[in-house]
Amino acid sequence: MESPSHRVVVVGGGFGGLRVVAGLSGAPVEVTLVDRRNFHLFQPLTYQVATGALSPGEITYPLRAIFKRQRNVRVLLAEVRDFDLDARVVRLGSVSGVPAPEELRYDSLVVAGGSAYSYFGHDDWRAYGIEVKSIESALAARGRLLAAFEAAEATPHADDRDAWLTFVVVGGGPTGVEMAGQIGELALDTLRRDFRNVDPRSARILLVEAADRVLTTFPPSLSAKAERSLRGLGVTVLTGRTVVGIDDGGVVLAGGDGTTERVGSRVVIWAAGVTASSLAGRLGELAGAERDRAGRVTVEPDLTLPGHAEVYAIGDMVRVRDPTGDGRLLPGVAPVAMQQGRHVASAIRARLADRPHQPFRYRDKGNLATIGRAAAVADIHGLKLSGFLAWMTWLLVHLWYLIGFQNRVLVLIRWSVSFLTHGRGARLIGSGSEPR
Ligand SMILES: Cc1cc2nc3c(=O)[nH]c(=O)nc-3n(C[C@H](O)[C@H](O)[C@H](O)COP(=O)(O)OP(=O)(O)OC[C@H]3O[C@@H](n4cnc5c(N)ncnc54)[C@H](O)[C@@H]3O)c2cc1C
Repeated sequence: MESPSHRVVVVGGGFGGLRVVAGLSGAPVEVTLVDRRNFHLFQPLTYQVATGALSPGEITYPLRAIFKRQRNVRVLLAEVRDFDLDARVVRLGSVSGVPAPEELRYDSLVVAGGSAYSYFGHDDWRAYGIEVKSIESALAARGRLLAAFEAAEATPHADDRDAWLTFVVVGGGPTGVEMAGQIGELALDTLRRDFRNVDPRSARILLVEAADRVLTTFPPSLSAKAERSLRGLGVTVLTGRTVVGIDDGGVVLAGGDGTTERVGSRVVIWAAGVTASSLAGRLGELAGAERDRAGRVTVEPDLTLPGHAEVYAIGDMVRVRDPTGDGRLLPGVAPVAMQQGRHVASAIRARLADRPHQPFRYRDKGNLATIGRAAAVADIHGLKLSGFLAWMTWLLVHLWYLIGFQNRVLVLIRWSVSFLTHGRGARLIGSGSEPR
């Protein structure tokens, strides 16, 4: 099998895909990395772009620049539309008018297409919910958040003002908690002296979570600490509530007892369910592999697609079959995708050298979430941290994993300046972020 022209196609330059490509440095393979974006996005910090703390260029890095010194890598800007697993071909479409080959042939294929937010079957809500998943949606969110304060300042009607200053964040996982905390800081701290007719500190920030506590993947004591920190930032935590409606005037919340309540709001941030990339569905269909309700395809313990030892799927879009035969859901976080990416690179190397390779095993290094200035929670192998120490851990881990030395320096400077001045330098309302 060993051949200098073994073709590896990697779909997706996110956390998983990047580690596969880097792990094949110096290997006797020709790697083609295909992404519909020309950059890697550090998703864990998109919410900071959405709240004006960071600028887009600081959390993204061009894929070509990342691999400019890795001679066996070619980067291709194109969208993957389909696969022919029998013919070992990936079918492509062009992006931004850039011509792309119609198809790419592979000897090994790795698909790491990630996930998107899902609206629990209510796709019409997508028009009203704001997301912080992509750089574009984060910029639109930034514009909508800041425009809401402007609208509140401009409107003469008290009811309208209340609706503009009511921010509803749906989903009490790390992203929802981080977003709610950041809006709290924006209202209580950054903007507090900027307006004349309204007091930004009067903003209502509601964090809605269906479970009985936020951050359900953390121990209950840390959830309680996070809720306390959120309250300190003016956030009202509404647990045990489900969103049953969203329209252009607000949201409808249902309690556990079946009662519903309408909340007038012009800015609803959606940080709830996710659905796998449609590439997972297509692979599942072609290989007859199981898919779960969130569209994730189940791969074998070695991360290959059933019946296709040359096709790997990793990251947010998969479940991994465990030794009992069940599909095990690992958390949808960057470390899972990165470890799977490294595993696949070494599996491809092992296969080329005719060496056996172990099934994938996830090593959980812990859980981190930040709430605001000097406030975070961390659960590292049972060691529970909160407050400043957890925040410093969060900060260092994020700086460490951010791609590009320049970005690390820039983000460190931005965070230090913001910490000292309580400011946020990127508070721009761009076009395309018109309030509803
Ligand atoms: C707001 C937010 C905050 C988060 N915070 C954290 C955090 O604090 N800590 C943490 O560990 N995790 C966090 N996560 C989760 C983490 O970002 C994901 O688990 C991780 O990105 C998954 O990696 P991946 O490689 O599977 O997919 P991604 O990183 O999403 O990469 C997918 C790539 O595939 C490309 N792609 C998709 N479809 C196609 C196609 N058809 N053709 C070509 N290219 C395609 C995309 O452009 C993208 O570059 C967060 C996620 C979000 C949205």
